[in-house]
Amino acid sequence: MSQTTIPATTHRSSDSTPARHLPIRPMAAATWDAAAADIDAITALKREKDAIVLAHNYMTGDIFHGVADITGDSLALARAAQHVAQSTIVLAGVHFMAETAKLLNPGKRVLLPDLRAGCSLAASVTAADVRALRAANPGVPVVTYVNTSVAVKAESDICCTSGNAVRVVESLGVDRVIMIPDQYLARNIAAQTGVDMIIWPGACEVHEQFTAAEVRALRDEYPGVTVLAHPECPPEVVAAADFAGSTAQMSDFVAGRRANMVALVTECSMSANLADAHPEVEFIGMCRLCPHMQRITLKGIRTALETGRHEITVDPQIADRARLAVERMLAV
Ligand code: SF4
Repeated sequence: MSQTTIPATTHRSSDSTPARHLPIRPMAAATWDAAAADIDAITALKREKDAIVLAHNYMTGDIFHGVADITGDSLALARAAQHVAQSTIVLAGVHFMAETAKLLNPGKRVLLPDLRAGCSLAASVTAADVRALRAANPGVPVVTYVNTSVAVKAESDICCTSGNAVRVVESLGVDRVIMIPDQYLARNIAAQTGVDMIIWPGACEVHEQFTAAEVRALRDEYPGVTVLAHPECPPEVVAAADFAGSTAQMSDFVAGRRANMVALVTECSMSANLADAHPEVEFIGMCRLCPHMQRITLKGIRTALETGRHEITVDPQIADRARLAVERMLAV
């Protein structure tokens, strides 16, 4: 197995909060009291506007538990988007998720409460980059993480998520793929599949900050803790963990009561949401927050429903090709 990494682009931001290892507590009653008026208003607006809220696992608890109709990782949200009956989808997540929802539901109105909710991975690669990769590697299929723009998906053979990347790569039956844009996900999948990877140097600005030394320090601080890592983390962090998987796979791990004390090496809101749902499990925070996910707030969701902003559109010229790459993934 070999790996080729394309020279680096800029993708890193220093916005994420510093690491702290503290037990995660359920949401305080005062937080719920403060959120009650917005939750009531959003509940009424959803009925009035024939709308549904899809929320990513990294949303804050007031959104995740208070107004979301469907929660999950990006794969679950992409699948759910295909089956909703409502005419309006509010995507409580980041921009590429709203674009994917629009791709799969061209006849529905898709709203993103804050257009600044981007993603360092999506920002790291362009359609022109993919065309250049193809030209340099003729015949090698392009596997594209869903954390990308529609324009990038349109240049790809198939999409993947962190939850299905192994299956997607293996489904191609080839010994070499171009895997974009997450260098760490690609390395982690290469290690599991034995498939050679041509790797793009993108990274999640949240997950790339975790280190194996931090995991070791956590184990010293909390003996017996079970460490679950997201595959967007560097391979040495995944190797230092007890389990690696998508946010949905982490949720399943916890719901299966496979540990009494866990640390999720991923965005911090996820631990807080699971702590609310599983009071019998102790969650130790590996607290880094995604600045893009944090842009989505209850008030933003309320305003989106009241005003119809910000409606996501996709260029019809590229939508069909991008949809094909997403649908190929969903069929695997
Ligand atoms: S957590 Fe990372 S991958 Fe997810 S939206 Fe934020 S920057 Fe992108």
